Amino acid sequence: GGKAARNVLILMSDTGGGHRASAEALRDAFRLDFGDAYQVFVRDLGKEYGGWPLNDMERSYKFMLRHVRLWKVAFHGTSPRWVHGMYLAALAYLYANEVVAGIMKYKPDVIISVHPLMQHIPLWVLKWQSLQPKVPFFTVITDLNTCHPTWFHHGVTRCYCPSAEVAKRALTRGLDPSQIRVYGLPIRPSFCRAVLDKDELRKELGLHPELPAVLLMGGGEGMGPVEETAKALGHELYDHRRRRPAGQVVVICGRNQALRSTLLSLPWKVPVKVMGFEKQMEKWMGSCDCIITKAGPGTIAEALIRGLPIILNDFIPGQEVGNVPYVVDNGAGMFCQDPREAARQVARWFTTETDELTRYSGNALKLAQPEAVFDIVRDIHKLQPQPAALTRIPYSLTSPFSYHI
Ligand code: UDP
Repeated sequence: GGKAARNVLILMSDTGGGHRASAEALRDAFRLDFGDAYQVFVRDLGKEYGGWPLNDMERSYKFMLRHVRLWKVAFHGTSPRWVHGMYLAALAYLYANEVVAGIMKYKPDVIISVHPLMQHIPLWVLKWQSLQPKVPFFTVITDLNTCHPTWFHHGVTRCYCPSAEVAKRALTRGLDPSQIRVYGLPIRPSFCRAVLDKDELRKELGLHPELPAVLLMGGGEGMGPVEETAKALGHELYDHRRRRPAGQVVVICGRNQALRSTLLSLPWKVPVKVMGFEKQMEKWMGSCDCIITKAGPGTIAEALIRGLPIILNDFIPGQEVGNVPYVVDNGAGMFCQDPREAARQVARWFTTETDELTRYSGNALKLAQPEAVFDIVRDIHKLQPQPAALTRIPYSLTSPFSYHI
């Protein structure tokens, strides 16, 4: 027979923009490096097959982010292993059939999780189905530093950690060194491989050709003090003495429609572009000179690849706290929660402190790991039995559960 493609199931959840971005990065890297040898499915399994609260993770996440204290409780309250262990075991029991159906439908030869709550249940299912170790399970952690302990599961084939700091946590949690690899956060290949010319990009995107540009964003959901910062930038980037702008602003509001319409209705003294959810982030980043953002790991890693100095103005308590020292201690940017102060810093970078801007940019590039996503898929590929056709996994033979597909 012909060479069969291996099925890769990537489990994610649409909380924020980062998990999906990482999942799609892995999918694209498989395609670029191995073509038809792999068929990759990116699935929000909880949403498709689980019952509440799995199918509701996106909504509860947004709700909790709006109520930061609640999120803190959820994050830290579920930290002790026995608490989340029991909670997840109970969920696994309740939703096993759905998860089995999900896994059976895609008949994966490889499962990859890019979500902190997508380890336990699929691994339980694999165990119950006696599919372990036939189906290797990989975790790709998408937090740069202070990540949630549910990421670390002893039953995985590999746990890909984006930083040495996360690897240290994995070891502390009892993972074996042979399970741990540190390549970096997987970023969409369009970011890593593209040769982008700033002048061309500015023309294409309709930006001013000369003025230095600051990119302002707040993750996929447009969170943090974006509106206040945009206003402050509009003020600080205007040279009142010479009566002309000293810079321009690009605001990417993500899915935050309210923010977008507010900003669109305001008068500006400097060129300002207000965008919604953008699909070609590499172009926007490639056309700007620095970025102000909340401490989202995806945005940070992408900005580093583009060599953008970073001003972090917010973080999600818990998993994003550690991203701040990751950026600041490595000299790639600074932390500044006051919109006025952040805007003043940008104004200085664009006028009197251009050398400092260049220095930060160099440090950002040093910290960037554009090859991470390829290192990860190559490592997964290396662990596949060869040749593919001889090693099909007998999905039809094993199921103590009754399920329908
Ligand atoms: N993003 C995007 N378009 C937008 C806004 C954000 O593609 O309009 C992407 C961004 O490039 C990054 C991800 O969404 O890859 C945001 O991930 P991050 O980890 O920074 O924050 P999250 O949104 O997950 O909290």
